[in-house]
This record gives sequence, structure tokens and C-alpha cells, in this order.
Amino acid sequence: MASLALKTFVGLRYYTADHHRHHPTSLSKPTTTHKRLHIIAGKSSPKITGRNLRVAVVGGGPAGGAAAETLAKGGIETYLIERKLDNCKPCGGAIPLCMVGEFDLPLDIIDRRVTKMKMISPSNVAVDIGQTLKPHEYIGMVRREILDSYLRDRAASSGAAVINGLFLKMDKPKTSDEPYVLHYTGYDSKTGGAGERRKLEVDAVIGADGANSRVAKSIEAGDYEYAIAFQERIKIPDEKMQYYENLAEMYVGDDVSPDFYGWVFPKCDHVAVGTGTVTHKGDIKKFQTATRHRARDKILGGRIIRVEAHPIPEHPRPRRIADRVALVGDAAGYVTKCSGEGIYFAAKSGRMCAEAIVEGSENGKRMVEEGDLRKYLEKWDKMYWPTYKVLDVLQKVFYRSNPAREAFVEMCADKYVQKMTFDSYLYKKVAPGNPLEDLKLAVNTIGSLVRANALRREMEKMSV
Ligand SMILES: Cc1cc2nc3c(=O)[nH]c(=O)nc-3n(C[C@H](O)[C@H](O)[C@H](O)COP(=O)(O)OP(=O)(O)OC[C@H]3O[C@@H](n4cnc5c(N)ncnc54)[C@H](O)[C@@H]3O)c2cc1C
Repeated sequence: MASLALKTFVGLRYYTADHHRHHPTSLSKPTTTHKRLHIIAGKSSPKITGRNLRVAVVGGGPAGGAAAETLAKGGIETYLIERKLDNCKPCGGAIPLCMVGEFDLPLDIIDRRVTKMKMISPSNVAVDIGQTLKPHEYIGMVRREILDSYLRDRAASSGAAVINGLFLKMDKPKTSDEPYVLHYTGYDSKTGGAGERRKLEVDAVIGADGANSRVAKSIEAGDYEYAIAFQERIKIPDEKMQYYENLAEMYVGDDVSPDFYGWVFPKCDHVAVGTGTVTHKGDIKKFQTATRHRARDKILGGRIIRVEAHPIPEHPRPRRIADRVALVGDAAGYVTKCSGEGIYFAAKSGRMCAEAIVEGSENGKRMVEEGDLRKYLEKWDKMYWPTYKVLDVLQKVFYRSNPAREAFVEMCADKYVQKMTFDSYLYKKVAPGNPLEDLKLAVNTIGSLVRANALRREMEKMSV
């Protein structure tokens, strides 16, 4: 069953034709000279004269950076509004290998290439799960302040105007060709530290402003259930750091989280130790202490250099498009359950939404309408809905009790499971299975779960 589920863990591999170089941020007015996405189509929406379509992207994380770059390259007058240009998003920073290729990420922005992963059970049984990786395969570990500013800079060098501003609200148009008026506080050398209230008129808006999205509120997109994730960056002695050089750890158990996992991820000169939960948010610090405790021998002598926490969406918002406004990334709710992965999906959704706008507007020459933006949504749901569903099921089956988690870790020792899991994670595509191995795995999985249930019943009896 798990194998079938893993095989449904789909996504498509996609490569950009262009190869970019790293350029410094430009704060100049958007230019439309970098047109590499060319659309030829026939459409009836009104032509725009004397200028190109204007789009504001609110939020400069992976979703916003990727969206702004694609828009600018596609001939759109693009504005990227980010409240904090040195923002350091609380995040584990693990990215799949395919993201490096699809988004042409230079290797020097990747702190560590993880090739070994330990999955550690409630009773501290550790299983190595990177054994099937090929020599060139790895999980990338990035610091978000580095990744996000790289993507924003690249959007700027493609022609987007990056505005250092806090988006406040927007006035919606009354007719199909009136603009949206965005209100924001601008921070730049002219305003000093205080900021200045400003307005920006645009034809369409992409909300890439994360889990607490104000754009989502503006379009009454509705709420989602969320997890709270907590993380400490810990500087550990050099000899301890050697152990984590290319190794990440995942801890499961009631102590570290009732419904998620605890992690130790290696960064440039420190480790990130964290955990998350949806069901027991008030106990998050207790779970964090337990995660640190489980890793205690390996991080002994460490010094906490940063403490961070942030919500993680659990599912998409009820509404992701309204008129000429679309939500992407965490603002839309695109984090997978079970793994808590959202960086790749944020960048990918930002790019896909921008492509739909470029296409719908014929490279910025025509006005867009809701139907153009909906194309992004249809494509997205078709590509990724099964992935979200499968991970949802896996989380419900394997994270529900300590015996089930022991079964899960036991199952992870199987090389076939490792290969299927890594292929799905690293490439976001269907991993071709082997019928005989599938059958073997199904039998083993059922065996593990039966043992897990028997163990749980025994434990319940003991606690009566
Ligand atoms: C502790 C933790 C660990 C995680 N670990 C991983 C991991 O290892 N791998 C993984 O893939 N995912 C991980 N995630 C999830 C991942 O961080 C998110 O899915 C991802 O950051 C979403 O990107 P985004 O661009 O949609 O939003 P964000 O990264 O949240 O970016 C939103 C941007 O908008 C800006 N902004 C917000 N409001 C405004 C406003 N009003 N005006 C202007 N700008 C605004 C913010 O400053 C920010 O830069 C983790 C999350 C947490 C909390």
C-alpha cells in the first residue's frame, strides 16, 4: 500500500532553457528588455496601448521571487514588494535536487549536500535512509536569507522593480479594466527608517506573502488549518559538526511531536534543530526541548544563535483566485503534510501563475481576466493534488502513535522504499515501480502495521 501511495506521489520534471547569472539588485523602474518567454496566441480581451500589463507581486520569498522573474522575462511591467530585504524566513531549508536544475540555482548558495539521512524511531532505533542515492544525488540545504535574496536579485536583473515596502491593503477595481490600488509603507533611502505611505496602481496581483497573507485577507480567501513550527539554529563544536557534514536526522515520537517530526539539518557552520505540530501548538517548546534532548550527545557544547517560529499551512485555502488576484506558495497553502515541504512548491506555483499571466496577456499586450489566472490553478491541481493527498494519508497512518512510528521506521530500512521515496522527493515525478518488490513491500507493510497495532493494544492495556 505504501509503495502504491509513494508511486502516486507525482510531479513533473521541468527544465528552463535559460541559464542565468547572479546580478546585483536593481531598484530601477521595471524594464521589459529581457523577453525570453514569447507567447503567440489569439485572444479577445482588450489590448493595452502605450504600456504593458502591470503586475504587483506581494512578498519576496521563493514564490514571489520566482513569479517576478517569470513575469519580467515575459514582458510584464513587474513590481515585487518585500517588507524586509534581509528577511530570514524561519525554515529548515531542505530543497529537492530537481529545484537546483529547474531554477538554475548556483551551487555556491547551497550550504550542504545531504547524502545521508537517519530516521530515528521513538525507541531510538536509527535507520539510514540515503543508501540508494546515486553519486550525483543529494538533498540541498540552504539558508533562506541567501536563497530568497538570490531569487529576488535575479528577478530584478530580469527587469522587475523590487520595492522595499510593507503591503497594507488594496482597493479593488469596479470594472474589468480599472486598476487595483495597492497601499504600502515604503522604506528606502528617501524615507529613512520611518517609512512613507505610498500607492501603486496595477492590473493584476500575485499574493506571495506567506502564511499570514494580507493579500489572501483582501480577497476573503478563507482560512486554513496550520501547524506551528519551531526551530533553533545551534552552533556546535567543529568536531561535532563533522558528524553532520552531509547528514540530516529526523526524529519521530510522541515526545518530539504528536503529529509531525523533529529534525536536525546541517547548515554552513551550524545545525538547525526544530519540530512542529498542528494538534498541540501550546506544547511546542516542550517538543523542541525533547528534540534537542534526543540529539543531545551529537550537539553537546552547542550554543543557540537564533530561535525562530512560524506557521506552516496544512492545506490550500478555500479560495486561491478572485478576479485578477491569485495566491501562490504558503499564501495559497501549498505545503505537503508528512514532510512539511514548501519551498519548491512555492517557487513552482509562483512560476506557474506568472506563466499563466504572461500567456493570457500575450506578453503584456492585453488585459488579463480571472479565466487566465484559473489556468494556473487547473494545471497546479492536476499536477500536485495526488501528491498532497498521498502525504496526507501517510501522515495519518504512520504518525498517529509510537507503535505506528516504530513500524514506519522499520519500513524505511527497506531499500526499495528508500528508492521510491527519494526518487519521488528529489525529482517530483512518478517513480517507476517493480511489481515483485511492490508485492513484497505490501506484505512487509501489513506485517509492520499489524505488529504496531498489537503493540499499541498491549500498551493501552498497560496504561489502564
Ligand atoms: C520552521 C520551519 C521549517 C521549514 N522547513 C522546510 C524545509 O526544510 N523545506 C521546505 O521545503 N519547506 C520548509 N518549510 C516551509 C517553507 O518555509 C515555506 O513553505 C516557504 O517559505 C513558502 O515560501 P513563500 O514564498 O510562499 O512564503 P514565505 O517564504 O513565507 O515568503 C513570504 C515573503 O513575503 C513577505 N511578506 C509578508 N507579508 C508582507 C507584506 N504585508 N508586505 C510585504 N512583504 C510581505 C515576507 O517578508 C516573506 O519574505 C518550513 C517552514 C517552517 C516554519
